[in-house]
Amino acid sequence: MDEMNTTLSVEHVTKRFGDFTAVEDLSFSVQSGRVFGFLGPNGAGKTTTIRMIVGITIPDEGKIQLFGSGITPGIRDRIGYLPEERGLYKKMKVLDQLRYFAALKGVAQKEADKRIDFWLGRMQLSEWKSKKTTDLSKGMSQKLQFIATMLHNPDLLILDEPFSGLDPVNVEFMKEVIAEIKSQDKTIIFSTHLMETAEKLCDDIILLNKSRKVLSGKLREIKASYGKNVISLRCSGGEAVLADKELVAHIVEHSDEKEIFLKETGRAKDLLARLVESGADVTKFESIEPSLNDIFIDKVKT
Ligand code: ATP
Repeated sequence: MDEMNTTLSVEHVTKRFGDFTAVEDLSFSVQSGRVFGFLGPNGAGKTTTIRMIVGITIPDEGKIQLFGSGITPGIRDRIGYLPEERGLYKKMKVLDQLRYFAALKGVAQKEADKRIDFWLGRMQLSEWKSKKTTDLSKGMSQKLQFIATMLHNPDLLILDEPFSGLDPVNVEFMKEVIAEIKSQDKTIIFSTHLMETAEKLCDDIILLNKSRKVLSGKLREIKASYGKNVISLRCSGGEAVLADKELVAHIVEHSDEKEIFLKETGRAKDLLARLVESGADVTKFESIEPSLNDIFIDKVKT
């Protein structure tokens, strides 16, 4: 791995709250210019990790480096952080609010006003500039808070659940904006439960479950590696073969077919041979790349 291009490195990080370990011995890195998806079910430890990365809390064990250094005020200024619990001043007008956030990051007002106009336009909020934040819908507030994370032109964006509170049209819109930011050589880390969205946006992913990493790497490679072990099957009969835990790890049922996740040691040709031998009527048998959602379910179900 090229250390020069490593924007974030997390090494053997553990975080406890009393007796509860929220993040356990977590290691991963994020390369510059990549979109990195932070995935996992509720309570997996995503927000806890993100809060350690941005320096809100400190790991009990392990080391976090950003741009090759520990977190300092200078490093903090290179990060745009969208927290999970949004923190807008409801009574402030949109413009004043954004000016305030820009000033906190040391952006001169003239430049801040230019950027505010650009971003309000880009996020389709220009007509709300003089309105109070409390007049905005949940989705609009979400977009406003996103603008606040962008005003100092950060090199690294860390977005905790950036799609929450957005309707499907705005999810698509936000995806476009994130893709645009990526094309400017920025690095983006975001957490989400939306696997389809992650699948479309991410270069790399990490999947946490119960405080630990269960999967990480390049999304393409992860999907390709699963492709060898997942079969799209349409057949009648063969129930006993499919129930064989030595061969089949898990099955995702669709309306008229099944996705068969073979055990790592299982082989597709053995499955086919045994189905035929059992007298099953097989009308479709195809190696497929599973969706990220299927991989997610396969990895987190226990
Ligand atoms: P979600 O998708 O639901 O936001 P998450 O993956 O972001 O989940 P975290 O918010 O990191 O999960 O929480 C991980 C676990 O740590 C949870 O069980 C949570 O209750 C616990 N936890 C987080 N913060 C604290 C805290 N300050 N004190 C005690 N427990 C905490």
